[in-house]
Amino acid sequence: MKETNSLFGDIQLSKKIYSAIADMGFEEPSPIQSKTIPMVLEGHDVIGQAQTGTGKTAAFGIPMMERVTDSRQIQALVLTPTRELAIQVSEELAKIGKFRRIKTLPIYGGQSIDRQIRALHFGVQVAIGTPGRLLDHIRRNTIKLNSVKMLVLDEADEMLDMGFVDDIEAILQHIPAEDRQTLLFSATMPKPIAALAAKYMKTPKTVTISKEQLTVPLIDQVYYETRDKLDGLCRVLDLEDADKLIIFCRTKRGVDDLVVSLQGRGFMADGLHGDLSQSQRDKVMKKFRDGKLEILIATDVAARGLDIDHVTHVINYDIPQDHESYVHRIGRTGRAGKKGIAITFIGPREYRQLKLIENLAKTRILRKQLPSPADVLE
Ligand code: ADP
Ligand code: MG
Repeated sequence: MKETNSLFGDIQLSKKIYSAIADMGFEEPSPIQSKTIPMVLEGHDVIGQAQTGTGKTAAFGIPMMERVTDSRQIQALVLTPTRELAIQVSEELAKIGKFRRIKTLPIYGGQSIDRQIRALHFGVQVAIGTPGRLLDHIRRNTIKLNSVKMLVLDEADEMLDMGFVDDIEAILQHIPAEDRQTLLFSATMPKPIAALAAKYMKTPKTVTISKEQLTVPLIDQVYYETRDKLDGLCRVLDLEDADKLIIFCRTKRGVDDLVVSLQGRGFMADGLHGDLSQSQRDKVMKKFRDGKLEILIATDVAARGLDIDHVTHVINYDIPQDHESYVHRIGRTGRAGKKGIAITFIGPREYRQLKLIENLAKTRILRKQLPSPADVLE
């Protein structure tokens, strides 16, 4: 199906955007990108559904950077579920718009609001924010949204899960509906999102990239059954040739405990969860991105939507609650055509849950024997 994977040259893009994409190392559009970019360029409202890691940011980011004008007013607004994602999306948009010198600004809680107010004052063309902090600015009258022409709800399912639906609707009241182009991107499409789309979008075009076209086959999925997960985990860590690794735990407490256990055994590990201050979170993420941290231990919420390059392994230290969480978690590895490894630990009574996840996610998770201590001694 070479046709749907046409090179970026087949999409009508200006030279500056095209060069920026080339600099980013994108050689051809992903399926969601080749379908949605032309629609967005034509001005349609678009709903894009594709799994995590399939390039949804650039799917709206590329046409957005084409359409934004040089006027220093907020012309495009992106809503994201988490602070990390706001920063990440802002950076990706800035990269796509770099030769046009498009000013993007992430707006999120946990950073000094005065600094954001100053930056806004200086002139921003694209704002990327979490709903709570955006509302804060709206109420203080420190952000002007009357010139927004393009609104993106990014990772809409996660924003809903996190209870942002009222905030989103409140923000929508402040953006002129008349000539607003509204885009919605999501990995899954539960009913409340369809309802939100029906209420606020104008005859949207829907693009769905089905799972079969996605990257799951590029991820090796295995599981270990053991009574002593910590011991098993340490043996696996010793044996796997991991470069960057994310371990998921169910609770914040679980994250903290595992950080202590692994650090105590000499691993370069640190944790990420909602109880840490913003500066602590930023520090951990920076270390991990820069390769100064080998193991990031996180809760589902803290890891939402994070795009970290070259994550080689995802480990489910606690079995995910459902198949959607499983797919989200393992989507952290094997991104953009790179092969990844997903390892799930289960206790003696969790086999049925694993099988349920396997069936619902329409995937295969292979059983492996834990390496014996002798294997590790080598
Ligand atoms: P999603 O929002 O669907 O989870 P992202 O937009 O975060 O996915 O993209 C995942 C990764 O793929 C990012 O590192 C991004 O830079 C990269 N990527 C996106 N589009 C392309 C492309 N056309 N070619 C190569 N890499 C891409
Ligand atoms: Mg995304």
